[in-house]
Amino acid sequence: MKEQYMKSTEELLKEWDTSAQGLNESQVTAHREKYGRNELPEGKKKSILILFLEQFKDFLVIILLAAALISGFLGDIESALVILLVVTMNAVLGTVQNKKAEQSLNSLKSLSAPTAKILRDGTTRIIPACEVVGGDILLLEAGDSVSADGRIIENASMKINESALTGESVTVEKDTAIIDRPVPIGDRKNMVFSGSFVTYGRGKFLVTGVGTNTEIGKIASLLKNTQEKKTPLQVNLDRFGKKLSIIILCICAVLFITGILRGGDIFNAFMFSVALAVAAIPEALSSIVTIVLSFGTQKLAKENAIIRKLQAVEGLGSVSIICSDKTGTLTQNKMTIKKVFTDDGINEENSPLFPKFLLMSVLCNDATNTNGEEIGDPTEVAFVNYADHYYQNCISFRTQYPRLAEIPFDSDRKLMSTVHRLNDKTIMITKGATDVLLPLLCQWETKNGPVPVTEQHRALIAETNHSFSEQGLRVLAFAYREIDSYDSLSVDEEKGYTFLGLAAMIDPPREESKTAVATCIAAGIKPIMITGDHKITAAAIAKEIGICKDDNEAVEGMAIDSMTDEELLDYVPKISVYARVSPENKIRIVRAWQNRGNIVSMTGDGVNDAPALKQADVGVAMGITGSEVAKDAASMVLTDDNFATIVKAVENGRNIYANIKRSIQFLLSGNAAGILVVLYASLFGLPVPFAPVHLLFINLLTDSLPAIALGLEPHNSQVMKEKPRPKDENILTRGFLQRVAAEGFVMSLLTIAAYHIGLAQYGPGGACTMAFATLCLSRLIHGFNCKSKKPVLLTRKFLNNKFLIGAFAAGFVMLNAVLLIPGLHRIFSVTALDIKFVFIIYGLALANLFITQIIKKILVTINK
Ligand code: ATP
Repeated sequence: MKEQYMKSTEELLKEWDTSAQGLNESQVTAHREKYGRNELPEGKKKSILILFLEQFKDFLVIILLAAALISGFLGDIESALVILLVVTMNAVLGTVQNKKAEQSLNSLKSLSAPTAKILRDGTTRIIPACEVVGGDILLLEAGDSVSADGRIIENASMKINESALTGESVTVEKDTAIIDRPVPIGDRKNMVFSGSFVTYGRGKFLVTGVGTNTEIGKIASLLKNTQEKKTPLQVNLDRFGKKLSIIILCICAVLFITGILRGGDIFNAFMFSVALAVAAIPEALSSIVTIVLSFGTQKLAKENAIIRKLQAVEGLGSVSIICSDKTGTLTQNKMTIKKVFTDDGINEENSPLFPKFLLMSVLCNDATNTNGEEIGDPTEVAFVNYADHYYQNCISFRTQYPRLAEIPFDSDRKLMSTVHRLNDKTIMITKGATDVLLPLLCQWETKNGPVPVTEQHRALIAETNHSFSEQGLRVLAFAYREIDSYDSLSVDEEKGYTFLGLAAMIDPPREESKTAVATCIAAGIKPIMITGDHKITAAAIAKEIGICKDDNEAVEGMAIDSMTDEELLDYVPKISVYARVSPENKIRIVRAWQNRGNIVSMTGDGVNDAPALKQADVGVAMGITGSEVAKDAASMVLTDDNFATIVKAVENGRNIYANIKRSIQFLLSGNAAGILVVLYASLFGLPVPFAPVHLLFINLLTDSLPAIALGLEPHNSQVMKEKPRPKDENILTRGFLQRVAAEGFVMSLLTIAAYHIGLAQYGPGGACTMAFATLCLSRLIHGFNCKSKKPVLLTRKFLNNKFLIGAFAAGFVMLNAVLLIPGLHRIFSVTALDIKFVFIIYGLALANLFITQIIKKILVTINK
């Protein structure tokens, strides 16, 4: 059978029942039915059952199951059943939480899912890539990812990176020529393949394979794995949890053995050890982090930042450098031409050079503006809008003088060229950066025709360029030349030009940029502008919005080309604006800052930005103007392309981190209290203070809700007045652990007091009940202590988290149900208490609030 790359375009159009204008709606439906949707089966997703069973893999759960088994074996069927019930409920909760977190990340990812530019019924449209069908005509340009396999039918110097498929990182130059013999994938120059991306040029292709029929779809091992990696914080906490568990198990073993040696009952000694294990092992830590992070991503999405990798939320909290593009991110990307300079002067509309300039600015241009709908690069739209002032329908120039060939714009070359027939001559029009075009000039256009360019002319161009740039204007130069043939047009011919003129356009800063930059600086974050634009223009805008104070803080990318990495390391702190940068410059700047111990965020939109986005700790892609490749490489996508959104995201990241810390503090200090009480009782040979079911009740039921609620504490802009958190600060610092221990100590004292009161009044059963209820309630109340390092009791902050109040209320009701409903007493190993003792429990638990708040007040006063 003849392969697709061996057939002619006509043959293929016929075979696929389509035309160069694309499919129509009825064909689309038919083709979808015939060839299927453009989707790959997702990597194996875990079923709910597997997720549920996985909950039982947990270390703690295994210990509990063993305890249940032994209890049952020793005749305590009730304890065994309660343990089983609670463990099952915990597993159900865990499954639901896991599923929720996964769903929320997936729904976010779908917000930044890939799209495809498609020609249907003669009109260009952007559709989700999954809706592409066999026979569709797709348009490609630099930065697009290829969303299906297909045969190229139109090609303007397209170069494609096919490394995902072939492993070959060198880009492949494409063409449309028919290949007459079988060749391997890498040599099918007239085909494009799903999973690759366009690094240069433009083109059109006919879709010949979608979904599993693509080359990439056939390679099963490349299928996406939907499993999310754990964040550094989670890994850290897991490690801490494991260490703690091992220490606790050792203590348990010692307790068990000494219990037996003392001549105690084996069952009792065993229950002591189980109680301690349950009290101490922080089973919820890692899952709380997932929950809080995934709630955080929802909030970020509402504020225009789509998180693609959970790690980014954590990274955001410690970002200390934000490298940002200028155009469109710090500025509005609404360009308006303000000045046109030709031999006859500035804005000389009556000069014969002026109409020539307008014509060329529309021809060497891909943008359109149809009835106010602007499509294309804003720089180019500006020229169309400008020419529209003077001519009714300037776009018609393009039909009058059709484009015969082109060398597309790329931000490395900073030029764009198109070829047309004008006045019986073949002319190449080029526009681009003034500094790039200046050395390529040979002639200078006057109203009487071209004259050889002189040094004065060159000086005049440079001077005018400088003066426009100083006003913060973006300047583009226009030049043209005659060429003999355009069959094999290449960048080597971009020389020997006749200079026509300069155009200067304004791109005002976004209104919110100034405040966002000020917020950054106050938060100890250095904002850096990295732009392809001219140094003077960039510095003028940077000064206006506060990124730099002095022109000395601005350099051109070239200045760092000659520096070694060590030199660059010392140099970067002095610089706030990098102009005319290359993609390599971007990576080196990110690396230098990282090597100085910083967490770096970097924005990008073009295809060449992908490596820098990957290198940065938080790679940020532009949702509106960004290429598919940049979005794919980024860990966060901005739906509004706005610098202020990054700063807002950093604020959210810091708040989320602070909230995670609150949850951890809450869980660990509660556990510490439990451990201390069990150790106390065992040390003094007293009866076991808690039945395992008590600690299970606290750890798994009443404690989870406040821990999550603390993760949802209202955000506070105060966090942006502090310095960024050091790069490798462990969340469990010595100070943090000391606070945890101290707070646990206070709760344990109160619980021990309750225990003794109960022991004196009711004996071991009552002691156990009093200790359990006091520990449970003081931990619930302790949630309010964990809101802040400062005392909050008499402030508005005390009651500002409705989730925490709700969690407290739910826990309080559950505890009272267990204490006061006689039917529940046996199940939860509780002794009926006189109401007076219930109030003693309330009082002791409340004392935890007052004591801890007073201690906080004292500490704050001392530290002042
Ligand atoms: P940023 O990197 O902040 O987004 P930028 O948009 O100026 O800045 P590039 O798009 O890489 O960066 O543009 C670099 C330079 O190339 C511009 O300063 C301009 O001189 C020139 N240029 C930009 N767009 C075009 C275009 N469509 N045609 C020709 N030259 C262009």
